[in-house]
Amino acid sequence: MTVYNFSAGPAMLPKPVLAQIKEDIPSFQNSGMSVMEISHRTALFDNVINDAENDLRDLMKIPDNYRILFLQGGATLQFTALPMNLAMRYNHIGLIDTGHWSIRAGEEAEKIGTKVTIVASSKNQDYHQLPNYVDDNNNYDYIHLTTNNTIEGTAFDILPKTNKVLVGDMSSNFLAQQYNVEDFGAIYAGAQKNLGIAGLTVVIVRDDLIGKKQLPSMLDYQALANKNSMLNTPPVFAIYAAELTLKWLKDIGGIAEMERINRQKSSKLYQFLDQSRLFNNLIKPCDRSLTNIPFVTGDPEVDKQVIKEATAAGLMNLKGHRLVGGMRASLYNAMPMEGVTALTEFLDKFETNYWEEH
Ligand SMILES: *Cc1c(COP(=O)(O)O)cnc(C)c1O
Repeated sequence: MTVYNFSAGPAMLPKPVLAQIKEDIPSFQNSGMSVMEISHRTALFDNVINDAENDLRDLMKIPDNYRILFLQGGATLQFTALPMNLAMRYNHIGLIDTGHWSIRAGEEAEKIGTKVTIVASSKNQDYHQLPNYVDDNNNYDYIHLTTNNTIEGTAFDILPKTNKVLVGDMSSNFLAQQYNVEDFGAIYAGAQKNLGIAGLTVVIVRDDLIGKKQLPSMLDYQALANKNSMLNTPPVFAIYAAELTLKWLKDIGGIAEMERINRQKSSKLYQFLDQSRLFNNLIKPCDRSLTNIPFVTGDPEVDKQVIKEATAAGLMNLKGHRLVGGMRASLYNAMPMEGVTALTEFLDKFETNYWEEH
């Protein structure tokens, strides 16, 4: 049975990446050692991390005045590190509230004494759409935005207009659609959704925004940048897996081509959901995510049955996040069109059977 993994993260890897890992494990580049066993202070590993940086720079067209950091601690640690590094002047950030992860970013900033003001929110719309943000006259060090809302299923295709520094949590649509890096002061993303495996977080930050103050070393972007992200032992295997994923994405044709494929994949599922009388996606169409698609039947018992039968059919990890219930299909870069076809065919069959019985 072919298995398709719709997990929101850690998520599926591209098949060629898995195959390369398998091949490399006994002996990385004829060294007789696996990449997990070599020192990060070797030329062998230097090539890996430098290639990863160069390929990412190339793919996202990251200008020279942005530093790229390969860190640990997940996107969650960046909720703390960002205000530590970037909220130096006013100790005040603005938060665009689009759901769970944006709120989490605010909570962590408040814990270190940063003032957080919610500058726009779609909470009253159950986060089924994006809020409209307009600059106010406050001085914010930055405005925090979650580009893709992994749990709620919304995404900013067009960024809000602002004169302030924009910081983007791009964890769940990093490399899945095109953004202009220069629209942001900083971008960050956990790797386990679209860039390989857990244990690695990428931060892309404009160099004039950092180095304002001494901080604990592992939270100090300037100190980390000075040491090429190797202030201590970096997550070598996760960086290696990210580099393979970046190479794979380049082979596909880069982010523009990936976005085109992702739009095809998500359209197929949205079209099915929109014509269905049983399944519904509740998100305002212009605000829908390409990568995380929640849907419901309206009856939690039926939802349960859907997940159970889908699992038996090899369509894995479709259970929705506990905060919103129902189902969620994560269609990250590695998910092939065949997986989406298998899912829509399964849902269609389930629906036909359902209406025969009801
Ligand atoms: C998954 C996710 C996070 C949390 O990432 P960790 O790496 O587990 O800390 C934060 N923000 C968004 C948008 C996410 O999708």
